[in-house]
Amino acid sequence: MCIFCKIVKGEIPNQTILEDDNFLAFNDINPAKKIHVLIIPKEHYDSFDVVPPKIMASMTEFIHKVAAKLEIRKSGYRLITNIGSDGGQEVSHLHFHLLGGESVGRLVR
Ligand code: IMP
Repeated sequence: MCIFCKIVKGEIPNQTILEDDNFLAFNDINPAKKIHVLIIPKEHYDSFDVVPPKIMASMTEFIHKVAAKLEIRKSGYRLITNIGSDGGQEVSHLHFHLLGGESVGRLVR
């Protein structure tokens, strides 16, 4: 079982920001910015590349709620998902990194 599935099952502790029946948002163990939250579906999908679009629609709604709870919708934030080895993905369970709470700078020019 993957590490994020273990978090979903409560076998590994996490600092939960928001949770519903289908999704979980929790603090990254090694934060890159003041706010660094990981957002995952509870159901296992290896990456964004294989997630059904229907799941992404409800995940988008959930991510908006996480950003609202963190009060960063006005100031802004960055959302990243790494896909596969060239994409730098280390944990093979779909997750979005939500980064904010300070300027995260420009990524792509
Ligand atoms: P990836 O490189 O996009 O796969 O990112 C994996 C992320 O998971 C990294 O930012 C890690 O710091 C984070 N991470 C790994 N294990 C845990 C954990 O047990 N709790 C919280 N975050 C974790």
